[in-house]
Parts: sequence; structure tokens; C-alpha cells
Amino acid sequence: MTRYVHDFADGDMTQRDRLGGKGANLAEMTKLGLPVPPGFTITTDACVAYLDRGHEPDGLAEEVGDHLSSLEAAMGRRLGDPRDPLLVSVRSGASQSMPGMMETVLNVGLNDRSVAGLARASGDERFAADSYRRLLHMFGTTVLGLVDSAFVEALDGLKHERGVTEDIQLDAADLRQLIDTYQRIISAKSGRDFPQDPREQLALSLRAVFDSWNTERAILYRRQEGIPDDLGTAVTVQAMVFGNRGPSSGSGVAFTRDPATGRRGAYGDYLQNAQGEDVVAGIRNTVSLADLAHIDPASHDELMGIMERLEKHYRDLCDIEFTIDDGKLWMLQTRVGKRTAEAAFRIADQMVDEGVIDLDEALRRVTGSQLAQLMFPQFDASSPRQRIARGVGASPGAASGEVVFDSATATKLAAEGRAVILVRRETTPDDLPGMSVARGVLTSRGGKTSHAAVVARGMGRVCVCGADELDIDITGRRMTLPDGTIVREHEPLSIDGTTGEVFSGHVPVTDSVVMRALGGGRAESGDELVGAVRRLTAHADAVRRLSVRANADTAEDATNARRLGAEGIGLCRTEHMFLGPRRRLIEDLIVAEDADGQRAALDALLSLQREDFTAILAAMDGLPVTIRLIDPPLHEFLPEADDLAEEPDPRRKQRLSAALDRLREQNPMLGLRGVRLGFTIPGLVRMQARAVFEAGVERLRAGGDPRPEIMVPLVSTAAELRVIREEIETVAEDVASEHGIAVGYRIGTMIEVPRAALTAEDIARFADFFSFGTNDLTQLTWGFSRDDVEASFLPTYLDRGILPISPFETIDVEGVGALVRAGLERGRSANAALHLGVCGEHGGDPASVRFFDEIGLDYVSCSPYRIPVARLEAARAVLMDP
Ligand code: ADP
Ligand code: MG
Ligand code: MG
Repeated sequence: MTRYVHDFADGDMTQRDRLGGKGANLAEMTKLGLPVPPGFTITTDACVAYLDRGHEPDGLAEEVGDHLSSLEAAMGRRLGDPRDPLLVSVRSGASQSMPGMMETVLNVGLNDRSVAGLARASGDERFAADSYRRLLHMFGTTVLGLVDSAFVEALDGLKHERGVTEDIQLDAADLRQLIDTYQRIISAKSGRDFPQDPREQLALSLRAVFDSWNTERAILYRRQEGIPDDLGTAVTVQAMVFGNRGPSSGSGVAFTRDPATGRRGAYGDYLQNAQGEDVVAGIRNTVSLADLAHIDPASHDELMGIMERLEKHYRDLCDIEFTIDDGKLWMLQTRVGKRTAEAAFRIADQMVDEGVIDLDEALRRVTGSQLAQLMFPQFDASSPRQRIARGVGASPGAASGEVVFDSATATKLAAEGRAVILVRRETTPDDLPGMSVARGVLTSRGGKTSHAAVVARGMGRVCVCGADELDIDITGRRMTLPDGTIVREHEPLSIDGTTGEVFSGHVPVTDSVVMRALGGGRAESGDELVGAVRRLTAHADAVRRLSVRANADTAEDATNARRLGAEGIGLCRTEHMFLGPRRRLIEDLIVAEDADGQRAALDALLSLQREDFTAILAAMDGLPVTIRLIDPPLHEFLPEADDLAEEPDPRRKQRLSAALDRLREQNPMLGLRGVRLGFTIPGLVRMQARAVFEAGVERLRAGGDPRPEIMVPLVSTAAELRVIREEIETVAEDVASEHGIAVGYRIGTMIEVPRAALTAEDIARFADFFSFGTNDLTQLTWGFSRDDVEASFLPTYLDRGILPISPFETIDVEGVGALVRAGLERGRSANAALHLGVCGEHGGDPASVRFFDEIGLDYVSCSPYRIPVARLEAARAVLMDP
């Protein structure tokens, strides 16, 4: 026989799954001997059964009846008894907190007769009438589905007639009139009279709470929070206590610490002569707990004592609901309270100091995404702002500056020290210089993994993408808002990359103290938040198994990454060194007419690359630096056909145009790129390898400790790597004998083609390390061209639930993850010394980091700004491992 109903006295906080959070914690408080009005909880199983079958499961009504009888016996009153009625609340509560999403009905058991009994027994007619009008209102909306406004308008109308502004100014006669009005509204609008039978009220309320699991807002909330749809809600039936019995009564909410800032000390709101939600509904001004100490010192002291006990018991911030019924304190709810990112860090840190939890537990209580939030600049909370559009929050933080429509203008103005927001329809590699100097980037196309988003995140630049309400006219140097307003170049604009919002004008931005402190700057003395973050990230370093490297292409990024805790570079993209004015050198290489021309072009590139590498190796002295050979299709370095007209040299123009024709591909992602370039452009790999080794020599001569690792991209078959490896080794020997110094190095490959993962045992014979390039591996495994699918059907897939989350954001464990696992196992089986890491964007994603830890990679590599997040999550992966 299933037992669907549990008294508070026979349950505890471990039974959240069946009793819901509210029911389990009411049972726990009962067990602790706290003053909790008695009651019982109907399990989530009953709700699931009801929702499945469309009716209550067999035996439920009987069980509820039995428990109600015990409750009546305990209270010495019967539900709805016309002489002195027992009243109950019917409350919802899922296993995972869904605050305010579902329904509650208070004062069940009142009817036209028992309201008189309540008045007589309490000696307070006004109170009885007030309770009844509340029941009619809640029952009308929650159970009978009427609109709230029907009741609110009647109440406001009556207040207006009486010339009063507040509910408590209505007297008993007024409330009796309101009761009549409400009953008429119910009959007229729902087609039935308000049920006078208390048991029918109860049965209908129970059912309404079950049904409230599937209201639109509850479904939406679950989708946002990732709560499964099949859990169902528990229903709690509890004897009523009354905060609306005059000035010696009231109801309140409180936290054991401030959930916004984490500051120590109880914090809460209290409202005299109020019931239920009144205190949070803003109908009258609430008072603080300090004021309660004057109003009712005894209850206040008892409350403080209980809160202290609860916090000790739950070993965490507790959030509570209480009611004072004619001078007697009652506890109505408690739970471990939600908190801001700042509060999460501060409270975890405080509780370690207080000896309540240890550092491991403190780490379990803060998340990488909370840390990320603390590292971004934010809009000053007190400044007013006007939202003009909304896009996708692609790279978080707040930025404000003047609008510019192209990279060159951005660079020029930034050099003058001006703050700019680069606005484009979408971005391409040409926009990199502008993006890197802009405060923020705004595009009207693309989503979270568009070029703009990926690059901006890599740079730690604020970015809002896909604000498609904006009509951006680059040549006209203006954009048009949905309402027709025009924003021209140089006008101020503000964007929030966390929420995706775009604001008009200049909104002041405040820097993140955490970012400054983590980046090596000094914290303002005594900043508790900074201290907490430092302590927890330091502990994370002691706990984690994965090492954390940075994706960094310049010495500046490398220095920055090292300050943030990077233990090397996992991906240094050499193609970024060929942008801007240097692009012409690659063009020279592509259009060279003969071997001499090619050699000259390569020589010019060689000296530039050597300088770059020297600087990067210096910044990462003593730590590994993985340098990837040039990867993208060459046509990306050529001018667009339209821009050829600007080329003054006719011969060069003709050769460029021929090269454009020759290099045009149907599908560049699957064409001539990666290692394949090494086989078609003689001398390219040798030049890059030489630049690396010569840079190493320079560093050794300067007394440094260079640790270069050369990484070959897009390998699909072992033979490719074998040939390229030989070529690199020859260069290493040449450089060593020319200079009389040998630079230590490793050679490895990116595993980013599914075939490479599946034949990893062959490839591993020629590799010292593998780095899983999970961006390309995801594209090639799914057959998704990232920029294309992001702009077309991916959003629909996410909306329709075909995909729970973009595989570019969090690693697809079953598919791409299986390939990573296979590559790792096969690679290690052939080469036990193989070093393994990941350098896709997933390296900085909390959920993905867990997976990489679990399968036993050696390191993750991510953009510099994600490093502290990855450090924290790598430790949490160890601690949360079941
Ligand atoms: P929610 O989940 O939205 O917080 P609750 O079930 O907690 O809904 O109830 C809504 C309000 O009614 C809360 O303020 C709660 O304290 C109050 N309440 C619930 N049950 C009782 C009761 N038995 N006596 C007095 N107030 C109650
Ligand atoms: Mg509540
Ligand atoms: Mg790649």
C-alpha cells in the first residue's frame, strides 16, 4: 500500500523528494521542537499520479481524511465547525525551490456559518470577516481560475467609497459587504457558488495545487532553471495561525544573513495585522526586525534564538516565514536561502571562519558562474537607464561609450583615449583590432557562438549579439531603433553583455574589485569579498587535479593570464599574428611568382614571428606554451573581391584576383586549412618552426626557461603528423647546430576531426601531446557549421527542446564527449607518456570542466578571463565527484 500522506511529526529534511522542500523543512522544524502549527504533507508521488491519470489516485481521499481527523483531534476543533472552526492552509512545495510559482490557499474551512463561529470564538468580528474575504479571493483565483483583477477592483472600489487607502481601515461591516460582493463575483464569473462544504473546499484546493504544477509560469521557470517537468509538487495542509488579528499580530519574512551582500546579522521585514503574502506584496510599509524588537520584544527574542538555531542546524543561510498570532510566535517555513554571487562567497568564507563548515564545503557552495559574475564590470545600480533593444548576452559585463561602425574608427578613437562601442551587423576577423580596443561590441546578427561572441569572450570584451530589432546601416553610419529613433556615430550607448540589454546614452559603469584583485592589483584593505574570493580560489588550487592553461595569442594576454593563475598557454593561435598591416606579408607569400619571391615573403614573416614568440615565451617563462601552426583557410588573408579595386599595382591586382579564384572553396571549413596548408605551401611549416626555435634560443641566451610545444592542427591521419613532425625535428636540429644551443620542445596535435579521435592510437605514436579542439570537433561531429547554424535553426532547436543546450557552449557528453574519451583512451594505450588537454571554448565552461576532470585529461585551456572560473570548477569537479 502506498502512503501518500505524512504528518509533520513523521518526516525530516532529507525527504525533500517526496515531501517537497517546504514539507520536509516543516517536518524538520517540528522535529527540532520549534513552534510550527501542526499539519501533514501529501507527497509528490500523489501529484505525479494525479497528473498522469487525470484524477486522484485510489486511497488518497481516505488517507487525507484520516490525517485530517488526527489534526482535528490534536487541535480540539473540527474543520469548518460552525461554532469554533479549525481552518487550514493548502500549500504547494516542490523538491526544488520554485518560489511563488505555484499556489497556496489560506483560511480553508470558512463559510457563511463558520465565519460567525470564528467571530464569536475570537471575539473579533473584523478579523473573522477579513479571513473570509481572503479565502474567497484566493479560492476564486486559484481554484476557480478567475482573474485577480475582478477581486482587486472590488476591494479598491470599496476603499475608494469609504475614502480610505489601506485594507486595515475597512471595518467589519465593510468586510461583510465585500464578502457579499466576492460571492456574487464568484457565482457570476465561474458559473457556480462558492462551496460552503469545508471538505469540498479542501478537496478542490488540493486539486488546484496539483494543477498549479503545470501553469505556464511554472513551466517556464522550470525550463529556465533546468528543473525536470516530471517531479510534481507536494501539498501541505497546515492549521492556520493568524497574523491578521489586530496590532498584536502580524506576519514576516527574515534571513539569517543579508542575502544580497552576505553581511552578518538577521535581516527581515515585518508587517502588523497582516496575513500571508501581505508582507511581501507591498500593500503597506513594512518595518524591520529591529522595530519588531520594540513592538513585541518577547516574540522578537524568541525569533532571534530560533534563527540562530536554524542556521546552526542547516549550517547555511536560512530564509524563513513567521507569523505572530496575538503575541505568540509561529514558524511557517524555512529553507536554505537563495543569495547573490557576492553573498555566496562572503557567507561561505564567514562560515569557515566561524568553524561551521570547512574549506571543501565552502567550495561546494560557490560556483564558477557566480565567480564569473563578480569579475565583470557592472552598471552602477543607482543610475537610471532606458532600454532600447535586447539581444543575446554573449560576453558578460557592462560597457558604455560612443558608437562607432567600423574597426578603423574604433582604433583611431581608442588611441585618443575615447571609450567606444563597436556596432556591426556581424563581425569578421577584420574587426579584431577594433574589437580589442572597444569597451563593448554590439551586433544585430548571430548568437552566443557567433564570431563576435566567441572573440569577445576570448578577449573578455563585453558583447551583445543578435539585437535584430536594430537596423544597422554601416555605410550611412547610423542605426535605427524599432521606434524609428536614429542613433548616429559618436552618440553614446550602453550595453549589458550579461542580460543582452542595450541602453540609450551613457550609463555609468563600475569596475569589478574582484577582477582588479585577482589580476594582481591590490584590494582595498579589508574588502571581505576580495578576501573570500582569494581564499576560495587558493583552496581550489590545492584541491584540483586538472591544470589550467590559457588561450592567448599575445604577450599581453599571456601576462594577464598568468596573473589570473594560468599555468601555461594551451593554445596560441599564430594566424592572429598575420592580421592588420602584416596581412600584406601573407598576401606576398600567396602571390609570389617564384621560389625567390616566396622565400623573401617567408623571411619577412619569420623575423616578425620570432619576435612575437620571444615575447610570449618570456611572459610564460618556465611554463609550457603550445603554439599552433597556422590554421585557417588562406583566402581569409586575402582582400575581398570588392576591395581589390583599391590595389594600385595592376600586376599584383591581377595575381591577387587569380589567387582569389584559385582559393575559392565550396566549403572552406572542410577545405584547404590546418595541416593541409603545410603540404601545399612549401616552407610554411619550416618558417614557423624556425621562428619558435630561434625564439627559444634567444630566451635561453637571456637566461630564460622557454618551454615551447608545437601543435599541428586538423590532423586526420597519422601520416600527416609523421611527415610534419619530421620536418619540424629537422628544423630543430638545424637551429641547434647553427646556434650551438638546443631548445627543449614537444610536438603534438590537435584532435578535432572525428577520424583522428577514432585512430588516436596511430596518431599518438607521433605525438607528445594531444589537445582536443572541441570547437571544430563539435562542428565536425554534428555536421554543424557553427556560424551558419547559430544564425539559422539552432535557436529553434533550443526553443523546441530538441537540444537542451548549445553543444558549442557545454560539451555534448554522449557524442563529442565520447570521441574525446575514445581519443584519450586510444592515445594513452599507444603512448603512456602522452599529455592530454582541451583547448576549445568548453575549457572554461563549468559543466564541461566537470566532464574533462572525470575522464582524466591533464589540463583545460580557456580564455584568460575564464581562468579563475576554470580553477574553481576544476576543484569543484573533484569535490562533487560522487
Ligand atoms: P509560497 O510558496 O508562495 O511562499 P506559502 O505556501 O509559503 O507560499 O504560503 C503563502 C503565504 O501564506 C506565506 O506568507 C505563508 O507564511 C502563509 N501561510 C501559509 N500557511 C499558513 C498557515 N497555516 N498559517 C498562517 N499563514 C500561512
Ligand atoms: Mg512561502
Ligand atoms: Mg580548429
